[in-house]
Amino acid sequence: MIPANLISKKRDGIILNKDEINSFFNGYVLGRVSDAEMSAMLMAIYFNGMNEDETFSLVDIMVHSGSVLNFDDSKNLIGDKHSTGGVGDKVSLILAPVMASAGIKVPMIAGRSLAYTGGTIDKLESIPGFQSHTDLSTFKKWVTNNGYAIIAQSKEICPADKLIYSLRSKTGTVPSVPLICGSIMSKKIAEGISGLVLDIKIGNGAFMKTKKQANELGKWMTKIGTAFDIRTDVVYTNMNQPLGRFAGLSCEIAEAIDCLKGNGPDDLMAVTLELGSKLLIQSKIVKNKNDAIAIQNEIIHSGNALQTFNESVKSQGGVLENFYSLNKPKYEKFIYPSKQGTITRMDTESIGWILVEISKDKNKNSNHIDYSAGIEFLKKIGDTVDPTEPMFRMFNSNENLLDDWEKSLEATTIIGKSSNKIDLIL
Ligand code: URA
Repeated sequence: MIPANLISKKRDGIILNKDEINSFFNGYVLGRVSDAEMSAMLMAIYFNGMNEDETFSLVDIMVHSGSVLNFDDSKNLIGDKHSTGGVGDKVSLILAPVMASAGIKVPMIAGRSLAYTGGTIDKLESIPGFQSHTDLSTFKKWVTNNGYAIIAQSKEICPADKLIYSLRSKTGTVPSVPLICGSIMSKKIAEGISGLVLDIKIGNGAFMKTKKQANELGKWMTKIGTAFDIRTDVVYTNMNQPLGRFAGLSCEIAEAIDCLKGNGPDDLMAVTLELGSKLLIQSKIVKNKNDAIAIQNEIIHSGNALQTFNESVKSQGGVLENFYSLNKPKYEKFIYPSKQGTITRMDTESIGWILVEISKDKNKNSNHIDYSAGIEFLKKIGDTVDPTEPMFRMFNSNENLLDDWEKSLEATTIIGKSSNKIDLIL
């Protein structure tokens, strides 16, 4: 295989066969294809797309770049949820313990932040000691004992996605239907699940900006899920503003814990319960959505979901005792609107990028993230504002970055005369 030949073919819109896709993508995992070559291939795919055969081949190759889990010995539904990514989207952290408490086993392989969207793994790693990598037998044991576990892609499971994921993030090649299908569906198929609910986000803070693009992605992912014997439901949700009250690292864990205590914000809980209902109906634990919502609320209000979360975090090495004090931000800044009115628009993608910037470590060359960083949304679309009341609170442990980005954060909102609240489920 000559990488440049395959890149040129894709650049010129020529269809690649499975052997070619296999040699290029597995070549990358084996170190025979360089980052530069893979970046060029990703850009060629971004512009020219892939047809059905190519996309199915890509998913299959990415699944088999590592091991596939097997839960054939389990009597429970093995199910999972995955989102296409958003700002403030911490649903997985809430949904997994709720589903596990209801009797569904959730072996979740999640990602880190991707472009301007937050990553479940980065958020979990703000818990001191939390291990997001382990061998497959330990992962399976955690899932069996606690009902769920959340780990990252590794050398053993989905190594192709692990490597390509961060390259897509750096090269502006995330919003591509075949690449998203390859990334998400390879992780879900490798988990050995039989039920899946996908949260496809639409809007200015999502990779799919329009309903048309989102429907196209939903159609492909459902087709792939079905072909791999996974019952796949899709829910389309609104990402024209951040989800919940916070976006960031440790602050999203804290918000998820609040949700598990029954104190979650309405928008975040509505999306969580909607997605959870699909899995509960798939598993036949309930027959309809009303019962599904009722059972999830019961699980939360009884304290069972929080207990499941605590046990799971502990099994994965996480220590929650000093979590809040260790992650306390040193600095905060309140952002006020310049005029009176109603918020009519939030530029969610820009909010996500600002978050990436204020979460950078003090040391410019460090890859560490400032886990204390985040943004609190004190006002959202449809809320009235005036210059005496803050719209945002931004916080972290590097004051200079807050100074650098405060004006940009203020500019992410448009204030007009009136606006309705946004519809959450589209
Ligand atoms: N989440 C993923 O895991 N992959 C994507 O491509 C997008 C969101």
